[in-house]
Amino acid sequence: MIAYLEQQHFVHDTDHPSLPSLTLDGTIDYRSTVIKDFGGLHSTSPFAVIRPSSTHDISTVIHFASQSPTLTVTARGNGHSINGQSISTNNHGLLIDMKSLNLTVNDVVLSNNNNITVDLNGGALWEDVLKRCLMSYGFAPRSWTDYLGLTVGGTLSNGGVSGQTFRYGPQTSNVTELEVVTGNGETVVCSGEENSELFFAVLGGLGQFGIITRARVVVQPAPDMVRWIRVVYSEFDEFTHDAEWLITRPEGESFDYVEGFVFVNSDDPVNGWPSVVLDADQLPDPSVMTRSDNPVMYCLEVALHYSKENCSSTVDTRAKRLLERLRFMKDTLFKVDLSYIDFLLRVKEAEKQAKANGIWDAPHPWLNLFVSKSSISDFNHFVFKKILKDGIGGPMLVYPILRSRWDERTSVVLPDGDIFYIVALLRFTNPYQKTPCVRDLVAQNHEIVQVCVRNGLNFKLYLPHYNTKEGWKQHFGDRWPRFVEMKLRYDPLAILAPGQKIFTRNNIGE
Ligand code: FAD
Repeated sequence: MIAYLEQQHFVHDTDHPSLPSLTLDGTIDYRSTVIKDFGGLHSTSPFAVIRPSSTHDISTVIHFASQSPTLTVTARGNGHSINGQSISTNNHGLLIDMKSLNLTVNDVVLSNNNNITVDLNGGALWEDVLKRCLMSYGFAPRSWTDYLGLTVGGTLSNGGVSGQTFRYGPQTSNVTELEVVTGNGETVVCSGEENSELFFAVLGGLGQFGIITRARVVVQPAPDMVRWIRVVYSEFDEFTHDAEWLITRPEGESFDYVEGFVFVNSDDPVNGWPSVVLDADQLPDPSVMTRSDNPVMYCLEVALHYSKENCSSTVDTRAKRLLERLRFMKDTLFKVDLSYIDFLLRVKEAEKQAKANGIWDAPHPWLNLFVSKSSISDFNHFVFKKILKDGIGGPMLVYPILRSRWDERTSVVLPDGDIFYIVALLRFTNPYQKTPCVRDLVAQNHEIVQVCVRNGLNFKLYLPHYNTKEGWKQHFGDRWPRFVEMKLRYDPLAILAPGQKIFTRNNIGE
């Protein structure tokens, strides 16, 4: 369909008196609709919402914006950011709905150059990628996020972490080539060898240098089945000792997935022991849990891949051999066997329930951090055991990752040390119950960050958000000049992703 954003639509806007008309193969919707993100803390009405049907459309939109003094362009994946990163900041924004470039039937292609890879559109949802790759080839990407209703371009612009990251690195470490439309409107194919500066800048680059229209992602043969296991610890140092032991073991001598979370030492159905069980029939024995008088406890979550042909005793033996080396509390082992696809889509069921009871669409003031191993015990002391001792109405993830699995040439900023922890405070607010107001929860996030700063903890925000240039400069530290240099090269008018609030249109500064 040919759509026109004619000059007369700009006539009322004195900022855009002389723009030519915009002609695309996709569609342009310039009705003023209010757009929010998953965080639900910010909203905006973009000047127009564009549903491109090709990379060429995206390039045309960026060229078009560059001819105006104020227009900006935001690529919106599935809008699952928390702090307005995927919405344009004001009514000068052109919002590109990347999901209109989702998978088409034939675009998953296996190629063989050292790695087996598939080519994915930037707007493809990971859940569709999983289904298509499994169905067509029996292959699957090897590095995931916990929840797959996110787009390829959205997670590659941040990192993309889950329980496989300790082995394969984040999703940004599992891409061999990108096609990117830069802020100059140029379409560039880049990789570690070709246009490598752009390639590494875009990975974890918060949408600042270009729009990812295609990603070549490493895949491997997928297992059929997963044994999913949870065990409980009352002592944090024992939990971290075991988690770190597991992530530093060679492949084949550990689990295939390692995560963990903190829960409240109570029978509260959301924050307490019941959140540990994997099957409603496996309720934990309260007398076992009450052996500890700690306000919070720790759950190590692991998984083993296996094939249906393996007899279950082989999996039993592998799991037993690893579990007997761990120091979890006796009688706190929960397990379930499920298909690989059901394991990877495990959050989908929670999403359905949350949508049904209204909490999916309520605000989510989430906070994500990477905390250095050297500071994680202090984080437990100051934050989990004090500020968050009553829980947050949702998961509090904490698990270790190996720095060596990250490519330091990408734009992602990491804390110090060979091992660091992802901490994800995934707050849910219930619109129908008396829960703390969103403002108080945002204030608590702020307090947590301040406590970390005051006590000298070594950490970085993951999915970072700052409202000031100073905040961003501190976040990037000595990598800030490079980030600015890349911005000047690939988006000199600062057209792209203004919702990150790093640069403002025409003003990159130092
Ligand atoms: P959006 O929110 O739409 O966009 C994010 C940023 O990327 C914006 O600045 C946008 O402009 C830019 N962008 C989007 N698409 C492109 C593109 N094609 N090219 C360039 N820039 C682009 N993260 C993890 O690492 N692990 C998890 O397990 C995890 N679980 C999550 C579970 C839920 C329920 C939610 C809501 C989020 C989760 N996240 C997780 C965070 C998630 O990875 C980020 O919020 C990600 O940005 C969301 O992807 P999206 O497609 O919705 O991107």
